[in-house]
Amino acid sequence: MRPNYSDKMVSDFLELGLSTEILNAVAELGFEKPTPVQATVIPKLLVEDRDIVCLAQTGTGKTAAFGLPALEYLDLENPATQVLVLCPTRELCRQISQDLGNYSKYRNGIRIVSVYGGAGIQGQIKELKNGAHIIVATPGRLLDLLKREAADISGISTLILDEADEMLNMGFKDELDAILEQAPEGRRSLLFSATLPKEVERIARSYMKDPEIVTVGQRNAGSENVEHFYYLIREEDRYAALKRIADYNPDIYAIVFCKTREETQKIADALQRDGYDADALHGDLSQAQRDHVMGRFKRKALHMLVATDVAARGIDVSNLSHVINYNLPQEIELYTHRSGRTGRADKNGVSIAIINQREKGKIRRIEDVIKKKFTRLPVPGAREICERQLSHLITEINNAEVRNDIYAFMPTINEMWGSLPKEELVKKMLSYEFNRFFDYYRKAKDLNIPEKEKKEKSKTEAAGGADRKGQQPSSGKKDRNTRDGNPGECEKGFVWLRLNLGYKNKVIPRDIISIMKACGIGKKSVGKIEIFNEFLYVAMKDSVADYARSQLNGATFDRRRLSASLLEK
Ligand code: AMP
Repeated sequence: MRPNYSDKMVSDFLELGLSTEILNAVAELGFEKPTPVQATVIPKLLVEDRDIVCLAQTGTGKTAAFGLPALEYLDLENPATQVLVLCPTRELCRQISQDLGNYSKYRNGIRIVSVYGGAGIQGQIKELKNGAHIIVATPGRLLDLLKREAADISGISTLILDEADEMLNMGFKDELDAILEQAPEGRRSLLFSATLPKEVERIARSYMKDPEIVTVGQRNAGSENVEHFYYLIREEDRYAALKRIADYNPDIYAIVFCKTREETQKIADALQRDGYDADALHGDLSQAQRDHVMGRFKRKALHMLVATDVAARGIDVSNLSHVINYNLPQEIELYTHRSGRTGRADKNGVSIAIINQREKGKIRRIEDVIKKKFTRLPVPGAREICERQLSHLITEINNAEVRNDIYAFMPTINEMWGSLPKEELVKKMLSYEFNRFFDYYRKAKDLNIPEKEKKEKSKTEAAGGADRKGQQPSSGKKDRNTRDGNPGECEKGFVWLRLNLGYKNKVIPRDIISIMKACGIGKKSVGKIEIFNEFLYVAMKDSVADYARSQLNGATFDRRRLSASLLEK
C-alpha cells in the first residue's frame, strides 16, 4: 500500500516509530505533526517499559498519545481483552472509542467496545460476548459488568486511566479501587490527569510500578494558546454583559459555565427568550435530552451551550470560539478545566470571566495558578456592537453565493426596486435587518464600572483639600477624616461598602445603622464606619454585602438618592 501521508507529516510522525497503517489513518484525520503530548509519550510507550503518569490538559491530543501505541501492541490472534481505558463520562467513552476506531481504520479485525452508565446493560453484555480487544469504560458500569462476569480484564496488558482527576472528582474512588485491585500484575499502567491532587497521587502510588511523571506544558497551567479576559460589572448587570459579549461576537460558539443547575436552566431560558441559539446542559436532564442538546451543539444549531461543570465533562468539541465563566467556579482547579475546553490542538482560544468588584481577588488567585495574566476588557457598548454586527452582516452578504435560481426572479426584483437608488436600497435593507437591534441598543446603558474612586480622589487632591470646609462631624470625629480618601482595613469577613453620603450631608454613624435597619440589615452585619466629606465607607459582613448594596442602591436618605458600591478586597 502506498502511504498517503504528506511529506511534512512524514518527518514528524514517522520518527515516532508507528506502522504505516496507523500513519495513514492519522494522515486522513488531518494530523500533520504530533502534539507535544504525543511527541513525548508515544516514543516512551513504544520503546520503554515504565508506567507513566502524564500531566496534560484536556484537548492536548492525549487520546492519540495513548491510543496509537496501544493499537500497535494488540495481538489480533488473541481474542481476549488486552487494553482497558477508564474515563469519567459516557461522552468521553464514546469519543475515545470513536477516535480509536478512526486510528485503527487500516488494521482490520480490531474490536473496540465502549461501556458506560445511563445506557442499557444488556446490549453492552452482548457486544462484550462478541469479543473486545479494547474496552473503553466508565468505572461504575465496568465494575457492574465485572461482577456479572460479562467483562474480563484478567488478561489486559495495558491499563489507561484517562482524566483521572475528573474520575475522582466525580466520586469514582471506590469503583476505581475495586477495578484496580482486579487488574493483573504484569500490566503496564498509564495515568493521564490535568492536575495532580493527593487522591491521584495515591492511585499512582498504590497501583502503578515506579511511574515516571511526565508534565507536558506547565503543571496546572492554562492551555498555552488560550487568552484570558475578564469583564468587570455590577452584579445586577451580569446577564446583560453576557448578551453584550454574544452580540459583539456574531460567530460565537461557546460553552457558558454556571455554578448550579437552576442557574444554568435560568440563563439558557433567558437567552432563548431573547432570541439566541442557546440551550442548557445539566444533571436534571435525562440522557436522551442531553444527547439531543449535545447533538444540536455539535451541529452548531446551538451557538451557546449553558452548562454546569459536571455536565460539561467529557464534551469533546474542538473548535469552541469562547469559554465563558458566567460565574467563576468555587475551586480554582475547575477554571483550568473550563478554559482547557477552548484553544484545543493548534487553535487559539478565549476564556472570559464575568466578574463583580468582589471577585477581582479570585482572578489574581487564578492568575497565580495558571501562571498567566488576565486582561480586563471594557463591556462593549451600543456603538461597537452595532458596528461589529453590521460589518459581519455585510461580510456575509459579500460572501453569499449568487445562484442561477435568482435570475428567474430578476424581472420582479427590477420592477420593484429598479428605480430605487443603490444607496437607498442598501440603507433600507440594512435597516430592515437592524432596526430592532438599534432600538434595543439605543436604550442600552454603559455596563462598565466607572473608576469613580480614583476620579474623586484626584478631584479632591487637585482642589488642594478645599473640601475641608465641609461640615464638621457631629460625632466628634477628627479632622483627618473630613478629607476624602480611602478607608483603612476592615474586619475579617467584612467588605467595605461605599455610600454617597458624607459629613457634608451631616450624616453620623447612628444614621447609617438606621438606614441599614430600614433596608432589613441588622446591626450585627455592620462593622467599622469611616465617614469622609463627600462619601463614607461602612464595613458589611461578607454574606450580606451584595444584598446590602442592592437594597441601598436607589434608596433615599434625607431626600438624597443613595448610590452604593462594594470595594474590592
Ligand atoms: P484529545 O486531547 O485527544 O481529546 O484531542 C483533542 C483534539 O485534537 C481532537 O479533536 C483531536 O482530533 C485533535 N488532535 C489530536 N492530535 C492531533 C494532531 N496531532 N494534530 C491535529 N489535531 C490533533
